[in-house]
Amino acid sequence: MDLTLSPAEQAFEAEVRAFIGAQLPADIREKVRLDRFLDREDFMRWQQILGRQGWFTGAWPREQGGQAWSAMQTIIFNRVAGEMHCPELQVFGPAMVGPVIYTFGTEAQKAKHLPAIRDSSVWWCQGYSEPGAGSDLASLKTQADDHGDHFVVNGQKIWTSYAHFADWMFCLVRTGREGRKQEGISFLLIDMKTPGVTVQPIRMLDGRHYLNAVFFDDAKVPRGNLIGEAGRGWTYAKFLLEHERVENANLRFITQELQKLRRVAGEVRSGGRRLIDDPAFAAEVAGVEVQFKALEIGLLRMLSEMHAGAPAGPGKSSFIKIRGTEIAQRITELLVQAAGPDGQRYQPGPLLGLNEDPLVGPEHALGPVPSYQFCRAMTIYGGSTEVQKNIMAKHALGL
Ligand SMILES: Cc1cc2nc3c(=O)[nH]c(=O)nc-3n(C[C@H](O)[C@H](O)[C@H](O)COP(=O)(O)OP(=O)(O)OC[C@H]3O[C@@H](n4cnc5c(N)ncnc54)[C@H](O)[C@@H]3O)c2cc1C
Repeated sequence: MDLTLSPAEQAFEAEVRAFIGAQLPADIREKVRLDRFLDREDFMRWQQILGRQGWFTGAWPREQGGQAWSAMQTIIFNRVAGEMHCPELQVFGPAMVGPVIYTFGTEAQKAKHLPAIRDSSVWWCQGYSEPGAGSDLASLKTQADDHGDHFVVNGQKIWTSYAHFADWMFCLVRTGREGRKQEGISFLLIDMKTPGVTVQPIRMLDGRHYLNAVFFDDAKVPRGNLIGEAGRGWTYAKFLLEHERVENANLRFITQELQKLRRVAGEVRSGGRRLIDDPAFAAEVAGVEVQFKALEIGLLRMLSEMHAGAPAGPGKSSFIKIRGTEIAQRITELLVQAAGPDGQRYQPGPLLGLNEDPLVGPEHALGPVPSYQFCRAMTIYGGSTEVQKNIMAKHALGL
């Protein structure tokens, strides 16, 4: 596989760099650079700037209003975004429900939802998991009763990322109880303003509000919000999860954190020398960089195959998900080591912007511990590592 950038790809990289340099608002860049938490307005402002350029959905096909980015262009964009301190993109719309709508949705659904995903005027959340239905997703119980022109939804979702920011949820519901449990599942689009939908926060260890429980109490959802056929939701859900696992390669995040690791290890002094001059630490940094290169090559190979028409495939996307999340976790461990005792200080003021408390200690020590703690979840959400290994054993190794 030839990994040298072609002249056209080099030109694209320069274009991305110039665009981000000119358009990324300085206040957002500083928040990302300094590990401050971002609010809804920060994410939306940046995504809408990208949307106006057609880059929020750059990987979508041209007939869906995308830029038909190649695998290499997607990688280049994420790499540069990481180097230049762009926020993480909220991929629920562009990489998850968007492809489901343009692949399986009606013309009316496409006309209503795709433009608002492309320009990021609407925030989507993912209503899959329930208490008792995480890894075993097909056991979900949220019930949607068919009333002809509408469904009445009752039940509960949990761990719904950013549901409190969301305008719409794509949701798996049970519409049938006959046959295999996968067969009675349907895929519904639910307006979060629907009467009977309640969002309840779940606070994180670091004080952040990111996760939620969502309750449905006789929520009336129009039939026009059903994707495809009733009872075929499992097919659409699996299609979406394969795309999600590709996103879980965490290219932007890893690029950003590796850059930070190299910088911090060059600044921090340990035993009378720079940390990066400690052979044991330098070997750890080099090891994780090599693993990241291998991940990029694996991802490039898979994206190239997908662009040529092959499905992501359960085994391949599981491999990318496992490696992308484990590498991200390892880098955050090294950043915590580099921060040393300074990193143990919990500072909600500077971190969350909750009060005017000044930052105590070096800037680089603020973010690593919350980031390390959050990254523990990476090997759980989007399908846990154990479950991914089961999928690889079955689909890739034929066990
Ligand atoms: C930060 C975060 C954000 C999330 N965001 C969302 C979201 O936006 N929308 C959404 O729908 N969900 C979301 N989730 C939920 C996530 O998808 C589930 O937590 C995940 O699927 C695991 O399900 P569970 O928590 O029920 O754990 P369980 O399924 O109960 O698993 C518990 C443990 O058992 C292991 N295990 C389970 N089954 C097997 C098996 N067959 N073989 C081997 N080991 C097994 C698991 O690996 C895990 O270690 C989020 C979770 C987190 C932590």
